[in-house]
Amino acid sequence: MTTTGKPLYIVLVGAPGAGKGTQAHLLTQDLGIAPVASGDLFREHLSKQTELGLLAKQYMDRGELVPDDVTIRMVMDRLERPDCEKGAILDGFPRTVAQAEALDKELAAKGQKVALVPYIKVGEPALVARLSGRWICRQCGAVYHTLFNPPKQPGVCDICGGELYQRPDDKEETVRHRLQVYFEQTLPLIDYYRERGLLVEINGEQAIEDVHRDLLAAIQKVMS
Ligand code: ADP
Ligand code: AMP
Repeated sequence: MTTTGKPLYIVLVGAPGAGKGTQAHLLTQDLGIAPVASGDLFREHLSKQTELGLLAKQYMDRGELVPDDVTIRMVMDRLERPDCEKGAILDGFPRTVAQAEALDKELAAKGQKVALVPYIKVGEPALVARLSGRWICRQCGAVYHTLFNPPKQPGVCDICGGELYQRPDDKEETVRHRLQVYFEQTLPLIDYYRERGLLVEINGEQAIEDVHRDLLAAIQKVMS
């Protein structure tokens, strides 16, 4: 699938573990637009021990949201990079209504807007099972699961051969708190986007390739 001349901004929403990162990586290959994951940006900052990374760590370790002002600035800077010329698949941002308003304002200033907000719906028991078995490639960010999407060789990325690791905030007590934060602070976003006619619900409790097929169909509709 190719994009038209205009930049395409797609916002994936869903609880932690819904499959946003997994699907963002697949959609990037279809659409040729960059995946922008706020959690990955914070983790990159942390691995470089930047001031922002160290600040974010205090919140991430507890499963809390990083304050809006620093999060918004970081993502907006990322969207200015050349690989976002054709748009972006946003994953994990916005996570509050204030972040959604900031994104809308920033895009409107450039004559652009969010094209579609797929809401990947998954129930709580499945979310916990997914996060507890999640493994991520340190090098390319590809996402695996011990049971649902295992790598060919344990601990090694199928795509780039990089080392796989488990996120410290995927331990059960932090996961429970992250889900609570999601229900309290991020769920209001669903209504925000529904009221603007941008929301499309996707059944996230299907096989990865079936979720991908439904997402592509929804995106194709807005692009045609
Ligand atoms: P998010 O980015 O929304 O937090 P991820 O894409 O990291 O979620 O997925 C969380 C975990 O669930 C990963 O281990 C991933 O391999 C697995 N997963 C993703 N989509 C599905 C699916 N449709 N069915 C089963 N497991 C999945
Ligand atoms: P994620 O990789 O999306 O699961 O995010 C991991 C952690 O990074 C979250 O638990 C938050 O602490 C922080 N984070 C990521 N994105 C945001 C955001 N948009 N707003 C606030 N905090 C965020």
